[in-house]
Amino acid sequence: SGATAKDILALAESQGVRFLRLQFTDILGINKNVEVPASQFPKALAGDMLFDGSSIEGFVRVEESDMLLKPDFSTFRVFPWGDPQQRVARVICDVTMFDGSPFAGDPRQVLKRQVARAAEMGFVMNAGMEAEFFLFRPAVDGGAGTLTHDVGGYFDLAPMDRGEDARRAIVATLEQMGFEVEGAHHEVAHGQHEIDFRYADALTTADNIATFRFVVKHVAQQFGLVASFMPKPVFGQNGSGMHTHQSLFAKGENAFFDAKAEYQLSKVAHHYIGGLLKHARGMSAITNPLVNSYKRLVPGYEAPVNVAWSLHNRSPLIRVPSRRGAGTRVELRSPDPSANPYLALAVMLAAGLDGIATEATSREPVNENIWEMSFRERRRLRIDDLPHDLNEACDELEKDADICEALGPHVTQQFLAAKREEWREYISQVSAWELDRYLAKY
Ligand code: GLN
Ligand code: MG
Ligand code: MG
Ligand code: MG
Repeated sequence: SGATAKDILALAESQGVRFLRLQFTDILGINKNVEVPASQFPKALAGDMLFDGSSIEGFVRVEESDMLLKPDFSTFRVFPWGDPQQRVARVICDVTMFDGSPFAGDPRQVLKRQVARAAEMGFVMNAGMEAEFFLFRPAVDGGAGTLTHDVGGYFDLAPMDRGEDARRAIVATLEQMGFEVEGAHHEVAHGQHEIDFRYADALTTADNIATFRFVVKHVAQQFGLVASFMPKPVFGQNGSGMHTHQSLFAKGENAFFDAKAEYQLSKVAHHYIGGLLKHARGMSAITNPLVNSYKRLVPGYEAPVNVAWSLHNRSPLIRVPSRRGAGTRVELRSPDPSANPYLALAVMLAAGLDGIATEATSREPVNENIWEMSFRERRRLRIDDLPHDLNEACDELEKDADICEALGPHVTQQFLAAKREEWREYISQVSAWELDRYLAKY
Protein backbone atom coordinates (compact mmCIF):
# COMPACT_ATOMS: atom_id res chain seq x y z
CA SER A 1 0.00 0.00 0.00
CA GLY A 2 1.04 3.58 -0.41
CA ALA A 3 1.12 4.51 3.29
CA THR A 4 3.69 7.15 4.22
CA ALA A 5 5.53 7.74 7.49
CA LYS A 6 3.11 10.62 8.11
CA ASP A 7 0.09 8.29 7.74
CA ILE A 8 1.61 5.80 10.17
CA LEU A 9 2.38 8.52 12.72
CA ALA A 10 -1.21 9.79 12.53
CA LEU A 11 -2.57 6.25 12.84
CA ALA A 12 -0.32 5.49 15.82
CA GLU A 13 -1.43 8.71 17.51
CA SER A 14 -5.15 8.07 16.97
CA GLN A 15 -4.90 4.49 18.26
CA GLY A 16 -2.97 5.35 21.42
CA VAL A 17 0.16 3.51 20.33
CA ARG A 18 2.97 4.09 22.86
CA PHE A 19 5.52 1.54 21.69
CA LEU A 20 6.60 0.40 18.27
CA ARG A 21 8.34 -2.89 17.63
CA LEU A 22 10.71 -2.97 14.69
CA GLN A 23 10.43 -6.61 13.69
CA PHE A 24 12.69 -8.83 11.59
CA THR A 25 13.77 -12.49 11.63
CA ASP A 26 17.13 -14.12 11.97
CA ILE A 27 18.38 -16.82 9.60
CA LEU A 28 16.72 -19.55 11.67
CA GLY A 29 13.38 -17.75 11.37
CA ILE A 30 13.14 -16.58 14.96
CA ASN A 31 11.33 -13.25 15.34
CA LYS A 32 13.55 -10.46 16.67
CA ASN A 33 12.58 -6.97 17.53
CA VAL A 34 13.82 -3.66 18.75
CA GLU A 35 11.15 -1.71 20.65
CA VAL A 36 11.08 2.09 20.64
CA PRO A 37 8.89 4.53 22.63
CA ALA A 38 6.67 7.12 20.94
CA SER A 39 9.34 9.85 21.11
CA GLN A 40 11.43 7.81 18.66
CA PHE A 41 8.67 6.98 16.15
CA PRO A 42 9.69 9.62 13.55
CA LYS A 43 13.29 8.45 13.61
CA ALA A 44 12.29 4.78 13.49
CA LEU A 45 9.89 5.32 10.60
CA ALA A 46 12.57 7.24 8.72
CA GLY A 47 14.63 4.04 8.81
CA ASP A 48 17.23 5.69 10.96
CA MET A 49 17.30 3.26 13.90
CA LEU A 50 20.75 1.84 14.37
CA PHE A 51 21.08 -1.46 16.10
CA ASP A 52 24.01 -3.62 16.99
CA GLY A 53 23.73 -6.74 14.85
CA SER A 54 26.55 -8.48 16.69
CA SER A 55 24.29 -8.92 19.71
CA ILE A 56 22.07 -11.23 17.69
CA GLU A 57 23.59 -14.66 17.59
CA GLY A 58 24.73 -15.86 14.20
CA PHE A 59 23.54 -12.66 12.57
CA VAL A 60 26.72 -10.90 11.56
CA ARG A 61 30.42 -10.63 12.24
CA VAL A 62 31.34 -8.25 15.04
CA GLU A 63 33.27 -5.80 12.88
CA GLU A 64 30.23 -5.02 10.75
CA SER A 65 27.76 -4.71 13.56
CA ASP A 66 26.13 -1.33 12.86
CA MET A 67 22.94 -1.96 10.97
CA LEU A 68 19.76 -0.11 10.15
CA LEU A 69 16.14 -1.23 10.27
CA LYS A 70 14.11 -0.02 7.29
CA PRO A 71 10.37 -0.33 8.00
CA ASP A 72 7.92 -1.62 5.40
CA PHE A 73 4.95 0.69 6.11
CA SER A 74 2.42 -1.74 4.64
CA THR A 75 3.14 -4.09 7.56
CA PHE A 76 2.23 -1.66 10.34
CA ARG A 77 -0.22 -3.40 12.75
CA VAL A 78 -1.47 -2.51 16.21
CA PHE A 79 -1.53 -5.48 18.61
CA PRO A 80 -5.16 -5.81 19.72
CA TRP A 81 -4.33 -6.57 23.36
CA GLY A 82 -3.10 -4.77 26.46
CA ASP A 83 -4.05 -1.32 27.79
CA PRO A 84 -5.93 0.61 25.04
CA GLN A 85 -4.16 3.83 26.11
CA GLN A 86 -0.73 2.17 25.89
CA ARG A 87 -0.91 0.17 22.70
CA VAL A 88 2.01 -1.66 21.18
CA ALA A 89 2.33 -1.80 17.39
CA ARG A 90 4.79 -3.42 15.10
CA VAL A 91 6.23 -2.84 11.67
CA ILE A 92 8.28 -5.41 9.75
CA CYS A 93 11.69 -4.18 8.64
CA ASP A 94 14.39 -4.93 6.15
CA VAL A 95 17.87 -4.99 7.61
CA THR A 96 20.52 -2.92 5.87
CA MET A 97 24.14 -2.08 6.43
CA PHE A 98 24.95 1.42 7.66
CA ASP A 99 25.45 2.57 4.07
CA GLY A 100 21.94 1.41 3.18
CA SER A 101 22.95 -1.65 1.18
CA PRO A 102 20.97 -4.83 1.94
CA PHE A 103 22.39 -7.02 4.71
CA ALA A 104 23.20 -10.43 3.15
CA GLY A 105 21.94 -12.27 6.23
CA ASP A 106 18.42 -10.82 6.12
CA PRO A 107 16.00 -13.62 5.09
CA ARG A 108 13.34 -11.14 3.95
CA GLN A 109 15.72 -9.78 1.34
CA VAL A 110 16.65 -13.30 0.23
CA LEU A 111 12.98 -13.75 -0.64
CA LYS A 112 12.79 -10.31 -2.25
CA ARG A 113 15.64 -11.31 -4.57
CA GLN A 114 13.68 -14.34 -5.83
CA VAL A 115 10.50 -12.26 -6.14
CA ALA A 116 12.50 -9.82 -8.31
CA ARG A 117 13.90 -12.70 -10.37
CA ALA A 118 10.35 -13.98 -10.93
CA ALA A 119 9.29 -10.47 -11.99
CA GLU A 120 12.11 -10.37 -14.55
CA MET A 121 10.73 -13.61 -16.00
CA GLY A 122 7.24 -12.05 -16.05
CA PHE A 123 5.79 -13.81 -13.00
CA VAL A 124 4.29 -13.00 -9.61
CA MET A 125 4.21 -15.83 -7.06
CA ASN A 126 1.13 -16.32 -4.93
CA ALA A 127 1.38 -18.57 -1.90
CA GLY A 128 -0.78 -19.86 0.92
CA MET A 129 0.68 -21.80 3.84
CA GLU A 130 -1.21 -24.14 6.19
CA ALA A 131 0.81 -24.03 9.40
CA GLU A 132 -0.39 -26.74 11.79
CA PHE A 133 0.39 -26.57 15.50
CA PHE A 134 -0.25 -28.24 18.84
CA LEU A 135 -1.70 -26.80 22.01
CA PHE A 136 -0.26 -28.37 25.14
CA ARG A 137 -0.85 -27.92 28.83
CA PRO A 138 2.28 -26.64 30.52
CA ALA A 139 4.14 -29.31 32.50
CA VAL A 140 3.69 -29.29 36.28
CA ASP A 141 7.05 -27.52 36.69
CA GLY A 142 5.99 -24.94 34.09
CA GLY A 143 8.38 -26.29 31.47
CA ALA A 144 7.78 -28.14 28.20
CA GLY A 145 5.18 -30.90 28.31
CA THR A 146 3.22 -32.77 25.67
CA LEU A 147 0.00 -33.42 27.57
CA THR A 148 -2.67 -32.05 25.26
CA HIS A 149 -5.70 -30.01 26.23
CA ASP A 150 -8.12 -32.61 24.92
CA VAL A 151 -6.89 -35.82 26.56
CA GLY A 152 -5.69 -36.88 29.98
CA GLY A 153 -7.54 -34.18 31.88
CA TYR A 154 -8.39 -36.50 34.79
CA PHE A 155 -7.92 -33.90 37.46
CA ASP A 156 -9.68 -30.97 35.85
CA LEU A 157 -12.78 -31.98 33.98
CA ALA A 158 -13.41 -28.64 32.35
CA PRO A 159 -16.92 -28.21 30.95
CA MET A 160 -15.43 -26.73 27.79
CA ASP A 161 -12.44 -27.59 25.69
CA ARG A 162 -9.86 -24.93 26.40
CA GLY A 163 -8.13 -25.68 23.11
CA GLU A 164 -11.19 -24.92 21.03
CA ASP A 165 -11.73 -21.70 22.99
CA ALA A 166 -8.10 -20.72 22.51
CA ARG A 167 -8.33 -21.41 18.79
CA ARG A 168 -11.42 -19.23 18.48
CA ALA A 169 -9.63 -16.41 20.33
CA ILE A 170 -6.61 -16.80 18.03
CA VAL A 171 -8.86 -16.46 14.97
CA ALA A 172 -10.52 -13.34 16.45
CA THR A 173 -7.12 -11.77 17.17
CA LEU A 174 -5.84 -12.55 13.68
CA GLU A 175 -8.93 -10.92 12.18
CA GLN A 176 -8.36 -7.81 14.29
CA MET A 177 -4.86 -7.72 12.84
CA GLY A 178 -6.15 -7.75 9.29
CA PHE A 179 -5.90 -11.47 8.45
CA GLU A 180 -8.66 -12.95 6.31
CA VAL A 181 -9.16 -16.28 8.08
CA GLU A 182 -10.81 -18.83 5.79
CA GLY A 183 -11.23 -21.64 8.27
CA ALA A 184 -9.99 -23.28 11.43
CA HIS A 185 -10.22 -26.90 12.48
CA HIS A 186 -8.96 -29.55 14.80
CA GLU A 187 -6.33 -31.71 13.08
CA VAL A 188 -5.83 -35.47 13.25
CA ALA A 189 -3.64 -35.64 16.35
CA HIS A 190 -4.81 -34.89 19.89
CA GLY A 191 -4.31 -31.21 20.63
CA GLN A 192 -3.47 -30.43 17.00
CA HIS A 193 -5.01 -27.52 15.10
CA GLU A 194 -4.92 -25.72 11.80
CA ILE A 195 -5.98 -22.18 10.92
CA ASP A 196 -6.03 -21.24 7.26
CA PHE A 197 -5.86 -17.66 6.10
CA ARG A 198 -6.05 -16.24 2.61
CA TYR A 199 -3.15 -16.63 0.19
CA ALA A 200 -1.21 -13.57 -0.93
CA ASP A 201 1.95 -12.66 -2.77
CA ALA A 202 5.00 -14.53 -1.43
CA LEU A 203 6.45 -11.71 0.69
CA THR A 204 3.12 -10.93 2.36
CA THR A 205 2.57 -14.61 3.11
CA ALA A 206 6.02 -14.94 4.71
CA ASP A 207 5.32 -11.83 6.83
CA ASN A 208 1.94 -13.30 7.73
CA ILE A 209 3.41 -16.63 8.86
CA ALA A 210 5.97 -14.87 11.06
CA THR A 211 3.11 -12.88 12.63
CA PHE A 212 0.81 -15.91 12.80
CA ARG A 213 3.27 -17.98 14.84
CA PHE A 214 3.73 -15.10 17.26
CA VAL A 215 -0.04 -14.47 17.67
CA VAL A 216 -0.82 -18.18 18.16
CA LYS A 217 1.78 -18.46 20.92
CA HIS A 218 0.70 -15.23 22.58
CA VAL A 219 -3.03 -16.01 22.68
CA ALA A 220 -2.49 -19.65 23.73
CA GLN A 221 -0.52 -18.40 26.70
CA GLN A 222 -3.51 -16.31 27.83
CA PHE A 223 -5.47 -19.58 27.97
CA GLY A 224 -2.80 -21.26 30.05
CA LEU A 225 -1.70 -23.35 27.06
CA VAL A 226 1.60 -23.67 25.25
CA ALA A 227 1.42 -23.52 21.45
CA SER A 228 4.14 -25.36 19.56
CA PHE A 229 5.11 -25.45 15.91
CA MET A 230 7.59 -28.25 16.55
CA PRO A 231 7.20 -30.64 13.58
CA LYS A 232 6.79 -33.94 15.47
CA PRO A 233 6.17 -33.41 19.17
CA VAL A 234 4.45 -36.75 19.93
CA PHE A 235 5.68 -40.17 18.81
CA GLY A 236 2.94 -42.24 17.18
CA GLN A 237 0.79 -39.23 16.22
CA ASN A 238 0.68 -37.04 13.10
CA GLY A 239 3.23 -34.26 13.07
CA SER A 240 2.66 -30.66 12.04
CA GLY A 241 3.18 -29.66 8.44
CA MET A 242 3.16 -26.34 6.65
CA HIS A 243 1.70 -27.32 3.27
CA THR A 244 2.51 -24.58 0.81
CA HIS A 245 0.09 -23.83 -2.01
CA GLN A 246 1.81 -21.94 -4.81
CA SER A 247 1.10 -20.55 -8.23
CA LEU A 248 2.57 -18.07 -10.68
CA PHE A 249 0.58 -15.27 -12.27
CA ALA A 250 1.54 -13.52 -15.51
CA LYS A 251 -0.19 -10.29 -16.51
CA GLY A 252 -2.86 -10.92 -13.86
CA GLU A 253 -3.69 -14.41 -15.17
CA ASN A 254 -2.90 -17.74 -13.55
CA ALA A 255 0.06 -19.06 -15.55
CA PHE A 256 -0.48 -22.64 -14.30
CA PHE A 257 -3.88 -22.95 -15.99
CA ASP A 258 -4.34 -24.02 -19.59
CA ALA A 259 -7.90 -25.04 -20.40
CA LYS A 260 -6.81 -27.12 -23.40
CA ALA A 261 -3.81 -28.94 -21.97
CA GLU A 262 -3.66 -32.37 -20.36
CA TYR A 263 -4.93 -32.09 -16.75
CA GLN A 264 -5.55 -28.39 -17.71
CA LEU A 265 -2.04 -27.67 -16.48
CA SER A 266 0.16 -25.37 -18.54
CA LYS A 267 3.75 -25.99 -19.60
CA VAL A 268 4.76 -23.44 -16.96
CA ALA A 269 3.01 -25.54 -14.30
CA HIS A 270 4.72 -28.73 -15.48
CA HIS A 271 8.15 -27.11 -15.48
CA TYR A 272 7.50 -25.54 -12.07
CA ILE A 273 6.55 -28.97 -10.68
CA GLY A 274 9.66 -30.36 -12.40
CA GLY A 275 11.76 -27.74 -10.61
CA LEU A 276 10.24 -28.55 -7.22
CA LEU A 277 10.94 -32.26 -7.81
CA LYS A 278 14.48 -31.58 -9.04
CA HIS A 279 15.34 -29.51 -5.96
CA ALA A 280 13.17 -31.32 -3.39
CA ARG A 281 16.17 -32.95 -1.74
CA GLY A 282 18.38 -29.85 -2.00
CA MET A 283 15.87 -27.57 -0.32
CA SER A 284 14.83 -29.95 2.50
CA ALA A 285 17.26 -28.47 5.01
CA ILE A 286 15.48 -25.12 4.55
CA THR A 287 11.88 -26.38 4.46
CA ASN A 288 12.54 -28.96 7.21
CA PRO A 289 15.31 -27.44 9.30
CA LEU A 290 15.24 -29.37 12.59
CA VAL A 291 16.58 -32.74 13.70
CA ASN A 292 12.96 -33.35 14.67
CA SER A 293 11.62 -32.42 11.18
CA TYR A 294 12.72 -35.81 9.82
CA LYS A 295 10.71 -37.70 12.44
CA ARG A 296 7.61 -36.26 10.78
CA LEU A 297 8.66 -37.37 7.27
CA VAL A 298 8.04 -41.10 7.86
CA PRO A 299 5.36 -43.38 6.38
CA GLY A 300 1.92 -43.52 7.96
CA TYR A 301 1.28 -39.98 9.18
CA GLU A 302 0.04 -38.10 6.08
CA ALA A 303 3.48 -36.58 5.60
CA PRO A 304 5.50 -37.09 2.40
CA VAL A 305 8.45 -39.47 2.23
CA ASN A 306 9.11 -39.71 -1.51
CA VAL A 307 9.82 -37.32 -4.35
CA ALA A 308 6.76 -37.52 -6.62
CA TRP A 309 3.67 -35.59 -7.61
CA SER A 310 0.05 -36.54 -7.92
CA LEU A 311 -3.35 -35.22 -8.94
CA HIS A 312 -5.34 -36.93 -6.20
CA ASN A 313 -3.43 -39.06 -3.80
CA ARG A 314 -2.49 -37.41 -0.55
CA SER A 315 0.70 -39.30 0.12
CA PRO A 316 3.10 -37.65 -2.35
CA LEU A 317 5.27 -34.62 -1.92
CA ILE A 318 3.37 -32.53 -4.45
CA ARG A 319 -0.39 -32.56 -4.93
CA VAL A 320 -2.37 -30.58 -7.48
CA PRO A 321 -5.72 -29.68 -5.88
CA SER A 322 -8.76 -30.04 -8.18
CA ARG A 323 -9.42 -26.30 -8.47
CA ARG A 324 -8.65 -24.87 -11.93
CA GLY A 325 -8.88 -21.43 -13.53
CA ALA A 326 -7.54 -18.62 -11.35
CA GLY A 327 -7.25 -21.07 -8.42
CA THR A 328 -4.91 -23.51 -10.21
CA ARG A 329 -1.99 -24.26 -7.91
CA VAL A 330 0.38 -26.89 -6.63
CA GLU A 331 0.67 -27.89 -2.99
CA LEU A 332 4.13 -28.80 -1.70
CA ARG A 333 3.51 -30.93 1.38
CA SER A 334 7.00 -31.36 2.81
CA PRO A 335 7.60 -28.00 4.57
CA ASP A 336 6.98 -27.87 8.29
CA PRO A 337 6.15 -24.86 10.46
CA SER A 338 9.60 -24.68 12.06
CA ALA A 339 10.95 -23.42 8.72
CA ASN A 340 11.93 -19.81 8.22
CA PRO A 341 8.98 -18.76 5.99
CA TYR A 342 11.08 -16.24 4.02
CA LEU A 343 13.81 -18.74 3.19
CA ALA A 344 11.31 -21.55 2.59
CA LEU A 345 9.34 -19.51 0.04
CA ALA A 346 12.58 -18.23 -1.51
CA VAL A 347 13.90 -21.75 -2.17
CA MET A 348 10.55 -23.07 -3.42
CA LEU A 349 10.26 -20.14 -5.84
CA ALA A 350 13.90 -20.55 -6.89
CA ALA A 351 13.30 -24.26 -7.54
CA GLY A 352 10.18 -23.56 -9.61
CA LEU A 353 11.85 -20.78 -11.61
CA ASP A 354 14.83 -23.02 -12.29
CA GLY A 355 12.38 -25.66 -13.50
CA ILE A 356 10.90 -23.12 -15.93
CA ALA A 357 14.30 -21.80 -17.08
CA THR A 358 15.64 -25.33 -17.74
CA GLU A 359 12.29 -26.75 -18.93
CA ALA A 360 12.50 -29.43 -16.28
CA THR A 361 10.17 -32.33 -16.77
CA SER A 362 7.54 -33.19 -14.22
CA ARG A 363 7.39 -36.82 -15.47
CA GLU A 364 4.04 -38.55 -15.02
CA PRO A 365 1.92 -38.09 -11.92
CA VAL A 366 1.94 -41.05 -9.53
CA ASN A 367 -1.61 -41.73 -8.46
CA GLU A 368 -1.08 -45.00 -6.61
CA ASN A 369 -0.21 -45.07 -2.95
CA ILE A 370 3.59 -44.90 -2.91
CA TRP A 371 3.80 -46.29 0.63
CA GLU A 372 2.34 -49.55 -0.59
CA MET A 373 4.89 -49.91 -3.41
CA SER A 374 7.91 -52.13 -3.07
CA PHE A 375 11.40 -50.68 -3.22
CA ARG A 376 11.81 -52.20 -6.72
CA GLU A 377 8.59 -50.63 -7.94
CA ARG A 378 9.72 -47.21 -6.71
CA ARG A 379 13.10 -47.69 -8.39
CA ARG A 380 11.38 -48.60 -11.64
CA LEU A 381 9.37 -45.36 -11.50
CA ARG A 382 12.55 -43.54 -10.42
CA ILE A 383 10.91 -42.29 -7.23
CA ASP A 384 13.52 -40.94 -4.84
CA ASP A 385 13.28 -40.59 -1.06
CA LEU A 386 13.39 -37.23 0.68
CA PRO A 387 16.46 -36.92 2.95
CA HIS A 388 16.12 -39.21 5.97
CA ASP A 389 17.71 -36.87 8.48
CA LEU A 390 19.09 -33.37 8.92
CA ASN A 391 22.64 -34.47 8.16
CA GLU A 392 21.67 -35.90 4.77
CA ALA A 393 19.59 -32.77 4.10
CA CYS A 394 22.66 -30.58 4.78
CA ASP A 395 24.72 -32.68 2.35
CA GLU A 396 21.99 -32.30 -0.28
CA LEU A 397 21.79 -28.55 0.24
CA GLU A 398 25.54 -28.23 -0.15
CA LYS A 399 25.34 -30.14 -3.46
CA ASP A 400 22.50 -28.03 -4.87
CA ALA A 401 24.18 -25.00 -6.47
CA ASP A 402 20.87 -23.38 -7.51
CA ILE A 403 19.46 -23.44 -4.00
CA CYS A 404 22.75 -22.22 -2.49
CA GLU A 405 22.78 -19.40 -5.02
CA ALA A 406 19.24 -18.41 -4.11
CA LEU A 407 20.20 -18.23 -0.45
CA GLY A 408 23.46 -16.44 -1.16
CA PRO A 409 26.84 -17.47 0.33
CA HIS A 410 26.34 -15.68 3.66
CA VAL A 411 23.03 -17.38 4.52
CA THR A 412 24.18 -20.75 3.13
CA GLN A 413 27.32 -20.78 5.26
CA GLN A 414 25.70 -19.51 8.46
CA PHE A 415 22.76 -21.85 8.09
CA LEU A 416 24.86 -24.94 7.36
CA ALA A 417 27.25 -24.19 10.23
CA ALA A 418 24.34 -23.89 12.68
CA LYS A 419 22.65 -27.06 11.38
CA ARG A 420 25.83 -29.17 11.31
CA GLU A 421 26.41 -28.16 14.93
CA GLU A 422 22.80 -29.04 15.84
CA TRP A 423 23.28 -32.47 14.25
CA ARG A 424 26.59 -33.14 16.01
CA GLU A 425 25.05 -32.30 19.35
CA TYR A 426 22.00 -34.48 18.69
CA ILE A 427 23.84 -37.55 17.42
CA SER A 428 26.06 -37.70 20.51
CA GLN A 429 23.06 -38.00 22.86
CA VAL A 430 22.00 -41.31 24.36
CA SER A 431 18.23 -41.59 24.09
CA ALA A 432 15.60 -43.50 26.06
CA TRP A 433 14.93 -45.59 22.94
CA GLU A 434 18.55 -46.81 22.89
CA LEU A 435 18.54 -47.70 26.58
CA ASP A 436 15.27 -49.64 26.20
CA ARG A 437 16.54 -51.46 23.19
CA TYR A 438 20.18 -52.18 24.05
CA LEU A 439 21.01 -51.87 27.74
CA ALA A 440 19.85 -55.28 28.96
CA LYS A 441 20.43 -57.11 25.70
CA TYR A 442 24.14 -56.40 25.24
N1 GLN B 1 -0.28 -33.26 9.65
C1 GLN B 1 0.00 -33.75 8.34
C2 GLN B 1 1.47 -33.46 7.98
O1 GLN B 1 2.30 -33.74 8.73
C3 GLN B 1 -0.92 -33.17 7.30
C4 GLN B 1 -2.38 -33.48 7.54
C5 GLN B 1 -3.27 -32.80 6.54
O2 GLN B 1 -3.43 -31.60 6.56
N2 GLN B 1 -3.81 -33.54 5.62
O3 GLN B 1 1.79 -32.97 6.92
MG1 MG C 1 -5.43 -27.93 5.34
MG1 MG D 1 -3.79 -29.94 7.70
MG1 MG E 1 -3.04 -29.27 2.75
